[in-house]
Amino acid sequence: MKSTIIEKAKKIIKNKHFDAENQALSNKTKAFDDELFKNLYHVYVNKMIENAREGKENDEELNLAKSQLQERLNKLNIDSIEPQYHCKLCNDSGLTKEGKYCNCLIDQINKILIEESGFLQLEDFKSTNLKLFPEKSLMKTLYEKMQKWCHSDFEKTLIFLAGQTGVGKTHLTRCMANELIKRHKLVFFTTSFAMHQDFVKSFACRDAIEKQELISKYIDAEILFIDDLGTELRNPNITVNYLYHVINERQTKKRPTIITTNLNLEEILSYYDERIFSRIADKTSSICLFIEGEDLRLKNTKK
Ligand SMILES: [Zn+2]
Repeated sequence: MKSTIIEKAKKIIKNKHFDAENQALSNKTKAFDDELFKNLYHVYVNKMIENAREGKENDEELNLAKSQLQERLNKLNIDSIEPQYHCKLCNDSGLTKEGKYCNCLIDQINKILIEESGFLQLEDFKSTNLKLFPEKSLMKTLYEKMQKWCHSDFEKTLIFLAGQTGVGKTHLTRCMANELIKRHKLVFFTTSFAMHQDFVKSFACRDAIEKQELISKYIDAEILFIDDLGTELRNPNITVNYLYHVINERQTKKRPTIITTNLNLEEILSYYDERIFSRIADKTSSICLFIEGEDLRLKNTKK
């Protein structure tokens, strides 16, 4: 993923942190203009210090002082003099105690990714009306299977959704993306066309770091959606090798990849090669689903 996106998301979270602190400071200034509040505050603070010295933890007098303080704040129409952070887990720092990305930062990154992807509009499994599909029971099976996968530990890392245009692949992937985002997973969308352009750029690039960066965003993405495999402008020296490299690296690193395509397996074999074909067809690590024709007939849905 582009580091600029992460930086942008971190900045937004950081701004929330500053906003909360500034608001608290402004509230505090306002509250201290009130003599009664000031007196109650000193009573409260002195009580706290006294308790700390004596090692007291729960104290009725302290609780009373605290509630009087809050009552006065309510009268003054002030919420709180403490910063009210949006995320109680990380106090809007974006990082957990262990130094990992907090869910709020992940959600923010996803928000930017979705905005920047431009074409993506999310759908929800819950509100999807499967009755609209001619073969509703088959679609129900497919939707349920994919919803379940979204909540799995991704033992099957490759999801291959094939079928002609208009059979509902896009809608399904939008539901899946939404479901994964709800789990605070970082999703990255690309079209096969756009990814292939990066492959070509990388192939031609002389700068080793830049060469690698053009590809690593596809390899490193936590969850990668590749839309419309087969619509790229194929190049014999580049397409197959780079695509295999990305798929293989992602499978080795157990990173889920969802591919949609209008191609069938025979076409995959002739468009690409046996290595890619066998990765997709390998039932131990991938789920391969075909939604066929206008009747949305579903094949190969068995595990
Ligand atoms: Zn957080």
